Amino acid sequence: MEGDFSVCRNCKRHVVSANFTLHEAYCLRFLVLCPECEEPVPKETTEEHCKVEHQQGKEFQLLKGKSTVIIATK
Ligand SMILES: [Zn+2]
Ligand SMILES: [Zn+2]
Repeated sequence: MEGDFSVCRNCKRHVVSANFTLHEAYCLRFLVLCPECEEPVPKETTEEHCKVEHQQGKEFQLLKGKSTVIIATK
């Protein structure tokens, strides 16, 4: 079963056209694309997401104050 898909401008996901308008309205309002993993996450939990998923919240926040960019290595 192949349906029509459109790419969401916000999260860059393929969304079934039937749901696209609804999805995009929701997505633009509530979701942002995480710069680390490119997953759509709720705006309000972006920081939380970075801490939990990428475990560099502390460094990330500290570094935000200075204009230094460090790529965390494992
Ligand atoms: Zn979206
Ligand atoms: Zn992420």
